[in-house]
Amino acid sequence: MAELEGLHFGKSDFVLLDEVTMEQFLENLKLRFEEGRIYTFIGEVVVSVNPYRQMDIYGNDVIEAYRGRELYENPPHLYAVADAAYKAMKRRAKDTCIVISGESGAGKTEASKYIMQYIAAITNPSQRQEVESVKSVLLKSNCVLEAFGNAKTNRNDNSSRFGKYMDINFNFNGDPTGGHINNYLLEKSCYAVGDLKGVCSEDLLKSLHLNKDPTDYTYTSQGAVAMTVDDRSHHRAVMSALKVIGFSQEEINSIYKILATILHLGNLKFENEAENVQLVGGDLVMHISELTGTEVESMRKALLYRTVATGGGEVIEKGHSEQEASYGREALAKALYERLFGWIVGRINSVIEVKNYNPALHGKNTVIGVLDIYGFEIFDNNSFEQFCINYCNEKLQQLFIELILRQEQDEYQREGITWQHIEYFNNQIIVDLVEQPHKGIISILDDACLTVGKVTDSACLDSMNDKLGHHPHFTSRKLTPTDKTMEFNRHFRIRHYAGDVMYSVEGFLDKNKDPLFQDFKRLMFNSSDPILKEMWPDGKLSITEVTKRPLTAATLFKNSIIALVDKLACKEPYYVRCVKPNEVKSPMLFDDARCQHQVAYLGLLENVHVRRAGFAYRQPYDRFLQRYKMTCEYTWPNHLMGSDREAVEAIVLQHNFEGDVAYGHTKLFVRTPRTLFTLEQERTALI
Ligand code: ADP
Ligand code: MG
Repeated sequence: MAELEGLHFGKSDFVLLDEVTMEQFLENLKLRFEEGRIYTFIGEVVVSVNPYRQMDIYGNDVIEAYRGRELYENPPHLYAVADAAYKAMKRRAKDTCIVISGESGAGKTEASKYIMQYIAAITNPSQRQEVESVKSVLLKSNCVLEAFGNAKTNRNDNSSRFGKYMDINFNFNGDPTGGHINNYLLEKSCYAVGDLKGVCSEDLLKSLHLNKDPTDYTYTSQGAVAMTVDDRSHHRAVMSALKVIGFSQEEINSIYKILATILHLGNLKFENEAENVQLVGGDLVMHISELTGTEVESMRKALLYRTVATGGGEVIEKGHSEQEASYGREALAKALYERLFGWIVGRINSVIEVKNYNPALHGKNTVIGVLDIYGFEIFDNNSFEQFCINYCNEKLQQLFIELILRQEQDEYQREGITWQHIEYFNNQIIVDLVEQPHKGIISILDDACLTVGKVTDSACLDSMNDKLGHHPHFTSRKLTPTDKTMEFNRHFRIRHYAGDVMYSVEGFLDKNKDPLFQDFKRLMFNSSDPILKEMWPDGKLSITEVTKRPLTAATLFKNSIIALVDKLACKEPYYVRCVKPNEVKSPMLFDDARCQHQVAYLGLLENVHVRRAGFAYRQPYDRFLQRYKMTCEYTWPNHLMGSDREAVEAIVLQHNFEGDVAYGHTKLFVRTPRTLFTLEQERTALI
């Protein structure tokens, strides 16, 4: 077993720990990180620690070493997982997926790129042109999404991105034919707009009315990072990627115009003038209306007033307060960004979608899904975003348990081994706490949002307390008054599968509502720019036609996560768990406390427990024999028995391991890692 690379690098599989404790886990993770071994297995799961330096482990020679090999034949690596997922897809025509999770900066996106590159490298050996161009577009689309989806700020890295799921389709040859991307954007952020000045020509800047420094724009200066030369060449790469993918010049222009609009909106100010709110700086509104293809007067009106339908069917105009006006402007900027992003994803999807695929002619179309998604999050102050992310992780954990156990069960069945029940904590109860209709937290939140009149966050918390007070995974200070860690009326706590998280309800209601005034939607729908118009189909309804309330953010999120889980549930899963070793991007520093936190919240110990609960290891007889035949006189140098299986039995008997193994049709199953460890030590002593 190559996974026992040598003890001075620590154990290459956490299943081999003497004891599954946090101390041992961390010690091993740290030792390996310090030795430059950034990957470690938990069975088939790869744990990755961000090295924060270029590693010489992704070259073509390494790709060749992993290509077509079994997982345990090489040291732990992303390529081992990518190959396992690819092999299962190709040999057994299984749809597979690779779930990559971890906190922001842990290395998820890098990992997904290496996985895609690996798949690109091992497919289409005959270099067929149409496949090569599919691969190129798939790889390029990643770059575009990263550029638009990533907040350009160090201050609040975790503000805008949440997750991305990409399906890659394959034909019967195992060559990519296309794909589909789903994006999960949590907080709409405008910071990714970046510095257009660094990348646009003078003429273009002029037409966008952007002639100031980035620091002059509220949105970019809040981001507080001036773009470096690197960013500029990156931005240029993004624009050229857009062209390769097939965006027309007109579309790219519209993208620029929307980005510029967002920058201008950020600089709009309002002031009170004798009861009425006025706009400061008339130029800006003109620029904004020009860039959005709307009438100046309509734009001004939408920024200062909203139309409301009265009970009697009458339509009246209501002036904003200064606060409402700023709020509306902020919501518009965010919505413009979000819709632009959604539109870009949609365009990419229309380019990469599989066309003209005839299963009767081309065989079964199989899929590898790659999910790049935030892991469990817990900060000092946890809000609506953490609530959503953590709910999603409960769903993924539920799926993990179900799929891993099912996978195990399938394998045991195939191999003719009696299935043994594995004990585990079923977190369905927590999933229900959040998503159950009428009773769950999301439903209570939605009710509060739909209530007419002023409902406050704390009133919503009261309602949760009333309805969920007896739930074993829900606590509020009101219910346990002696708990001094929670501020009364502001927090609730969920006992998640990975641990307790306290949420502050502040802002929950606002974030859950659709904050955008209908007037803006109608205005954008009536834009003379057909591309912008396309992004606002819901602006079609007139004020009196709008009867249905838009779905709330939490409900939209819940629906998208349920759809995601459905997609994953029918696939064979592979996992990559990413850990960020420190907060300062250092290649040297392993911050014990931060790492312990992540190990806990990624549920890694749980992973090891589940993995060890059944048979920790299995190996085909011939491979087992090859590796350990020198440890037994009857098998060295060659056995004279009828089958490899009998020879393996001889080895097992000689070492008195018979209580610890089971014989499958093609594989030996070993319950405890210690057994293999002993064998491995003996082997090392002999060679
Ligand atoms: P995430 O997607 O989890 O937020 P990224 O994948 O963007 O994190 O990684 C953050 C940064 O860490 C990258 O920009 C890169 O500098 C570094 N990094 C991550 N993984 C690796 C790796 N395997 N090798 C070298 N650097 C890495
Ligand atoms: Mg990322």
